Amino acid sequence: MKVCIACGMPMKVQSDFAMGNPDKDYCVHCARPDGEMQSYEEKLDSLSGFIVKTQGLDPQAARKIAQGMMEKLPAWKKGD
Ligand SMILES: [Zn+2]
Repeated sequence: MKVCIACGMPMKVQSDFAMGNPDKDYCVHCARPDGEMQSYEEKLDSLSGFIVKTQGLDPQAARKIAQGMMEKLPAWKKGD
């Protein structure tokens, strides 16, 4: 099973993939309307907002957590 490189979500069915295209390495939530993958900043914003909503944290704390989560994902790994 493939996992989204940008958010870590498991992609089980075709509609989970960006543009419904199983060749993509990222999911429908990480794609812009035109099918391109979102930028780091865009993803950080949406992930932070999601954490604020689901965990009730303040935006700054949520942003730190989001950064920590994204660091572990292939799309955003720093270095090599
Ligand atoms: Zn994703």
